Amino acid sequence: PTAMREVFLETPKVRWSDIGGQHEIKKRLQKAVERPLKYPQRMRRLNVNSKKGVLLYGPPGCSKTLTVKALATEAGLNFLAVKGAEILSMYVGESERSLREIFRKARAARPSIIFFDEIDAIAARRSSSSQGGVNVLTTLLNEMDGIEELRNVLVIAATNKPDVLDPALMRPGRLDNILYIGPPDFEARREILRIWASKSVVNPDVDLDDLASQTDGYSGAEIVSICETAGDAALDEEEETMQEQDVQRKHFDYALGQVRRQITDA
Ligand code: ATP
Repeated sequence: PTAMREVFLETPKVRWSDIGGQHEIKKRLQKAVERPLKYPQRMRRLNVNSKKGVLLYGPPGCSKTLTVKALATEAGLNFLAVKGAEILSMYVGESERSLREIFRKARAARPSIIFFDEIDAIAARRSSSSQGGVNVLTTLLNEMDGIEELRNVLVIAATNKPDVLDPALMRPGRLDNILYIGPPDFEARREILRIWASKSVVNPDVDLDDLASQTDGYSGAEIVSICETAGDAALDEEEETMQEQDVQRKHFDYALGQVRRQITDA
């Protein structure tokens, strides 16, 4: 694989309004991005450096990726997405070159966000990494330490396994803004359901509050999956009856039985 293939600029289309709940996270991320762009002089006057890095951790399917995309869209930032596993799978020396290339691209495209999904793949504790892994991590730390050059480049990393990360990565000046993104609470679940319903045709016999109560412990991704399974059941019925259907309570009841809860299941 060539270094270039793994690095691409994206223009995400996700808006804050596409994400149910997580209001505190949205606010904190907005601040990390907007303050340095809007008030660089104020920050200089008070001798405060802008944050260079954010670490998002939490169970899978709970909107980490979605949140970073929305941040880029709403703040008008260029967005580079990289998966840790992709970087690690490259040839010796290629991973490091690719990493440097990502940072170079991000600087050229600033203001920008570099999003490292599955950061644990390249930033596991050095004691437990292969030699190749250590070199990649060192390159990442070096790139992050270039202070001035990284102005208006925000590095955001995501992981489901924060415990395996090398602590050096979270030192001040690196990924020192650490945010937990957990499973959606009742309000968030209701919003996720509402967002989906607003783009579908849902029968009035469906009680979204009720559904939000019944989906305690489900991830955002699982809730969307329930909605789509319900929608699919309505489509099945449409084919059988040859009559247009909306998505009804019975379809959701069926879907609830189909989609398993994974993140909080014993
Ligand atoms: P992973 O750790 O598996 O990469 P993630 O936390 O990055 O997961 P996302 O990719 O952001 O999860 O979410 C997966 C999908 O779940 C989204 O594309 C969206 O359909 C749905 N989803 C998750 N959380 C929410 C939410 N709060 N509001 C709306 N949709 C959500």
